[in-house]
Amino acid sequence: MPAHAAISHLSLEHLHAWDQEHVWHAFTQMAEYEPLLIERGDGIFLFDTAGNRYIDGSASMWCNVHGHRHPRLDAAVTTQLGKVAHTTNLGLSNPTTIELARRLVEVSPPGLEKVFFSGDGSSAVEAALKIAFQYHLQADDNKPENITKRTTFVALGEAYHGDTLGAIGVGGVDRFTAMFGPLTFDAIRVPTPGLPAGPPPPSDGGPRTDPSGQAATASETLSRLEQLFVAQSDSIAAVIMEPLVQAAGGILVHPPGFLRAVRDLTSRYGILLILDEIAVGFGRTGRMFACEHEDVCPDILCLGKGLTAGYLPMAATLTTDTIWRAFLGSHADGRAFYHGHTFGGNQLAAAVALESLRLFEDEELLERLPGVISHLERQLQQLADLPHVGDIRQCGLMAGIDLVTTKETAEPYPWEERMGARACLAARSHGALLRQLGDTVVIMPPLSISVDELDMLIAATAAGITSVTGLSGP
Ligand SMILES: *Cc1c(COP(=O)(O)O)cnc(C)c1O
Repeated sequence: MPAHAAISHLSLEHLHAWDQEHVWHAFTQMAEYEPLLIERGDGIFLFDTAGNRYIDGSASMWCNVHGHRHPRLDAAVTTQLGKVAHTTNLGLSNPTTIELARRLVEVSPPGLEKVFFSGDGSSAVEAALKIAFQYHLQADDNKPENITKRTTFVALGEAYHGDTLGAIGVGGVDRFTAMFGPLTFDAIRVPTPGLPAGPPPPSDGGPRTDPSGQAATASETLSRLEQLFVAQSDSIAAVIMEPLVQAAGGILVHPPGFLRAVRDLTSRYGILLILDEIAVGFGRTGRMFACEHEDVCPDILCLGKGLTAGYLPMAATLTTDTIWRAFLGSHADGRAFYHGHTFGGNQLAAAVALESLRLFEDEELLERLPGVISHLERQLQQLADLPHVGDIRQCGLMAGIDLVTTKETAEPYPWEERMGARACLAARSHGALLRQLGDTVVIMPPLSISVDELDMLIAATAAGITSVTGLSGP
């Protein structure tokens, strides 16, 4: 056992047992769960308690940006610890969080000027939904007859906006959320543009098709949106969507121009646009924010995951000045946003988020990314040639690789075979930690990954896939 593995053999056994006995893991069938204990990290690598090294191929659930244990991020946390770890932001402030809000306004699309902090992405989405709803109730230009009618949200099929009840109300990944239907409000759903038509996906994955059974092109989805806006524009509070890529839906990449067109339509009909950049923000698509690719400024922007470079829980909901103004008034008006989270705006998280934004500049991360992204594109071609790999979708430093029984017909594996999960598990013995979405293997490493490290990740992914699907066709 390597010298750094301080945990004794005996206590490791206990830890494995206690993990299975007491820790209820997210999105995990605990009856089948096999512990893997990560002890430390270094750059893009993670090390388990036995000293095995893995590439962090999912960026620790899509949030790590500059690698693990970056000296400057570590120092930012300890420097802030030397002052204070946490004070409330309910009616109180602190220099670190103020500075972060200012920086976020500077780096985000023009027009977004107000920052509401929360602790996780789902909460940032909940805040966005409530802000949009309350805004319409209080907006000065609202005609009295419309005032209580704007209660509806429009979302895309296969959308993912988090796991709290409001967020799953606008979510569309039915295999995760259908059973909670009785607890959530109904959003109007329009088809994801660019999905193949077909039956609904099985409850635990399979390549995605449009659950409505109708393939929609971008223009079909847009004309559906316009019909909705014409028919019920005064009942719709907002459209919410993930710009460019629906990540948890299976790395579904929208056709170019779709986002721009949705912005134009929502503006024309006076409907708010909420963009959820929790997965795609902070460089993931090659720009700081995905909406920059199409010069789009939303009315409300949700940020999370990469905000703190994957160090600490923090999320933010940014809004325009127009929205904010509708919440101003005297105490007696009751127009304030009566919503908040205990750890919203936490200083330790704010300190590391600020330092992460400085690193983007000092390490010229966005300037370096195009080379890494096109390298990924070339390397993915190797995977495309494997006999059981179907569609591959990539945007920036994120990719989804569909596993199929038959390449020509994109026939999915029976979902009970859990091919995606097994391929990711197999990749571990080749030195990579990956996560799947159904039978889509996802590649989403820290943005700091080098091209050599990317080659290692692709090789491990290919080895994982071939070891469970076999090298030959059916
Ligand atoms: C992860 C994610 C969320 C939810 O964030 P949590 O921090 O897990 O609550 C919301 N929207 C998108 C697009 C996400 O990828």
